[in-house]
Amino acid sequence: MQPLVGEVVFLGTGTSHGIPVIGCHCAVCRSEDRRNRRYRCAIAVGLPLGGLLIDAPPELRLALIREDIPLIHAFALTHAHVDHLFGADDLRVMPNRLGTPLPIYCRTQDAKEIHRVFSYAFDPSLTQASTAAPLSFEFHEINALDATPFEVLGAKIVPIPMHHHVNDAVGYRIGSFAYCTDVVSFPETSYERLKGVKTLVLDALRHRSHPCHQTIAQAIEVANRVGAEEVYLTHLSHDIDHATLEEELPPHIHPAYDGLRLQIPVI
Ligand SMILES: [Zn+2]
Ligand SMILES: [Zn+2]
Ligand SMILES: [Zn+2]
Repeated sequence: MQPLVGEVVFLGTGTSHGIPVIGCHCAVCRSEDRRNRRYRCAIAVGLPLGGLLIDAPPELRLALIREDIPLIHAFALTHAHVDHLFGADDLRVMPNRLGTPLPIYCRTQDAKEIHRVFSYAFDPSLTQASTAAPLSFEFHEINALDATPFEVLGAKIVPIPMHHHVNDAVGYRIGSFAYCTDVVSFPETSYERLKGVKTLVLDALRHRSHPCHQTIAQAIEVANRVGAEEVYLTHLSHDIDHATLEEELPPHIHPAYDGLRLQIPVI
């Protein structure tokens, strides 16, 4: 169902391999618990003027069909890694339905990557010669270092700069909700921007350390510092069994799972 205003839908909660991992026979990859089946990460958020998609993982089409979400009105990108971007071709249907190009919010370097990766979809000589609809995006470039909120679909959004090993990624704050995946650590200025967040989604790959992603313990530390009332962990690897982690975590911190829907205060 199309997300209602203030509804957050988890389209995917898995790390870049997806879970199950191809050819893996570990207990999590063979698990019958559907919460251990994880597409690559994305969410859809119901805003006053439509549905916002944050990231376009390779399973985007499957996730939108699974959740029965027919329309995306705007798209925001955290960063241009494959597991967050390579499903963007599935968005070609949206401009046809909307009757306008799909607004996309991303940094200058991510816009460049989109033009490089999907060059076939932006080259008029190729799109005119083909029957496939081009990727019709209306680019709105954001400066993640600028704390001034930008407006999307009737909501104010604050970008949250995040360190992601040699790269940086952008988290997004909408009212008292923030979505922060792929992050290994936050610059001090980002803690300022997370002040007062009540519902926080955080990258937490596994227990063992990783150069690009927070561990479960690091995510708990960040959650405690922010003081969020409800915390959901995402970008989970096959080291994580949902039920086991749920039991280990403090009561206000939960592993997210594909298909989870949250209600955040109406923006
Ligand atoms: Zn990722
Ligand atoms: Zn496995
Ligand atoms: Zn990444």
